Amino acid sequence: MSAADQARPITIIGAGIGGLTAALALADRGFAVDIFERAPQMQEVGAGLQLSPNALRVLGRLGLMKDLLVHGARAREVILRRAFTGRPIASVPVVASDGMPYVSIHRADLQAVLLRAVDRSPAITLHLGATLQALTPARGGLDLWFISGEGRHRLQASLVVGADGVRSSIARRLGLAAATPSGAIAWRGYVSRDNGGGPPPGITAWLGPRRHAVAYPISGGRETNLVLIEPMKRTTLADPAGLAYRFRSWDRQLTSMIAAAGDMTGWPLNVVPPDRPWRHLDDRLILIGDAAHAMLPYAAQGAGMAIEDAAVLADALARAPSRSAALAHYEAERRPRIAKVRRRVAFHQRVYHLPWPLDLARDAALSLRSPDSLRDDLSWLYDWRPPAESDDRETI
Ligand SMILES: Cc1cc2nc3c(=O)[nH]c(=O)nc-3n(C[C@H](O)[C@H](O)[C@H](O)COP(=O)(O)OP(=O)(O)OC[C@H]3O[C@@H](n4cnc5c(N)ncnc54)[C@H](O)[C@@H]3O)c2cc1C
Repeated sequence: MSAADQARPITIIGAGIGGLTAALALADRGFAVDIFERAPQMQEVGAGLQLSPNALRVLGRLGLMKDLLVHGARAREVILRRAFTGRPIASVPVVASDGMPYVSIHRADLQAVLLRAVDRSPAITLHLGATLQALTPARGGLDLWFISGEGRHRLQASLVVGADGVRSSIARRLGLAAATPSGAIAWRGYVSRDNGGGPPPGITAWLGPRRHAVAYPISGGRETNLVLIEPMKRTTLADPAGLAYRFRSWDRQLTSMIAAAGDMTGWPLNVVPPDRPWRHLDDRLILIGDAAHAMLPYAAQGAGMAIEDAAVLADALARAPSRSAALAHYEAERRPRIAKVRRRVAFHQRVYHLPWPLDLARDAALSLRSPDSLRDDLSWLYDWRPPAESDDRETI
């Protein structure tokens, strides 16, 4: 980047997982960062997240691994089970070939780890309760308009990173096609281990016709996070009590957890069109994370992709001769990877929800596969490495 661009702070909109990781990765590469977040306090819903080795490698490089492992639970495999009987279909190994772990964690714990690191960094300033309302091109950058407790105020930015999530207001202001309903809803809740037990340690997915369920430990194993995914009808959101009924004939281990979880919260699942452009306003604005490419959570990779985006963007900005070259490099690196992950998500969607008798063929095929061959299917995903800082001297 030019010396003038490098001297000005980078502005990030949204302090979710993508925005916070981007701030840390950019600060690590010597940039000053301002993050603006509309929420007046950082609060996370009571839900969990799976972090696969590709995402953990980025967070590890930022010095966060020890802290994450205190709060997260390590998994060796994801166990796939039949919906109604609970019979195991296959165990898919999830530890990377270099031993990098796979961790399930409470979102609030992940956010707290990221926020502590942000607080420690003198290069990052976090502005809470500041909602971006408008952005317009200005000489040498962009004018951003925020609304906060103190009223409306303007800020000049040289480069803006849009990390404002699936309902991105930046995308709306740029006139981009909105995220679209996927036709599915995810119900999230959690059960304490002392109240209704939980599945065996590790990650379990029950696969059934048009529905699936996932359970995994969070909070160092004291709680089990439960996610149920089903088709979304107009009345579904108004009927959380009907959830137990709709899953009533599933594996008893799952139904007892649904009963113990009480009221679960419904999240209609929306996806960003794959052709959404990411670079805008003469390369003064770049989208990352869900704002760029929100996808269905069927491969548990949305946050992982936002974390990878952060690492690739920071590296490109640190090494490229110009802002435009950096953003072009970021996009060239990330588009094919995101497209491949989307294809994997579509594959899981098809295969997880097969009706009888096609599910029998699926189970037979999976039972013939060795754990090693199942691991090999995912090595392109889990063995991904962030760009190494030792490449710094090379120019993109
Ligand atoms: C049911 C479910 C399960 C999932 N499970 C997994 C999983 O196991 N593993 C995984 O990797 N991913 C998972 N995901 C996906 C993951 O949650 C998202 O991909 C990830 O949170 C996206 O992060 P982000 O930072 O891009 O956006 P967000 O986390 O949505 O953050 C956006 C931030 O921007 C702020 N913001 C919005 N508008 C403005 C504005 N105008 N001004 C200022 N701030 C603003 C918001 O308040 C928010 O803090 C799951 C998703 C769902 C729905």
